[in-house]
Amino acid sequence: MTTHDDTSRHVRKLFEQGKKLSDIAEILGLEIDDDTLIDAGWRGDDGNAEVAFPYADSAQEAANEYVADGAWGDGNGLSTVAVDVIVWRPAWRIVDGELVAVRLDEQKLLGKQAPDEPPCDGARDGEHDFQGAVHGLRGGASVHVTTVCMLCGCRRESWSACNVVETQHDFDGVRYTPRHDFDAVLEYHRVNGIPDNLDPESALGQALAADDDH
Ligand SMILES: [Zn+2]
Repeated sequence: MTTHDDTSRHVRKLFEQGKKLSDIAEILGLEIDDDTLIDAGWRGDDGNAEVAFPYADSAQEAANEYVADGAWGDGNGLSTVAVDVIVWRPAWRIVDGELVAVRLDEQKLLGKQAPDEPPCDGARDGEHDFQGAVHGLRGGASVHVTTVCMLCGCRRESWSACNVVETQHDFDGVRYTPRHDFDAVLEYHRVNGIPDNLDPESALGQALAADDDH
């Protein structure tokens, strides 16, 4: 794989050999737009580190990849992470006879990474059964939707940026909290009966089976 730094070195070397930008573009297979030679992909920087994304097709994709590659420490991988990232296309121009690196299409974007859904340890088939039926939960609201898995008690909250005041997030996101509503789900099944797809060996299955022993 050719990195941006490799390309940068080749560009500079060819320039020092007296090649024009249009020739360099042809030799290295790079894009050229008027007087600007453009490298493949994007670069990103959140203020701490600059990272190359040679295969990103868009500014937003680069920003999202930046967040996906980082270890952000919060959310335990169970919550959408959003970070402001400056992204740009690396490029070169000739200014006063000198080859100068420039940032093309530089912009600040919110890079986002949604969490993977944690596994369900209560389902026979491993699939959560998220519902809004547990008493006391405000499921189905348009801005902030809370549902609970009826097989393991995992809470799933999703929010939309359309109402920042209510959600306190200026980005769309989702958050999982495993076992958060275990007791509420247990109580629900005590009243409504055991669901077919509940694994009897799971924590919830065993808690319900223990009821029958009394
Ligand atoms: Zn579940």
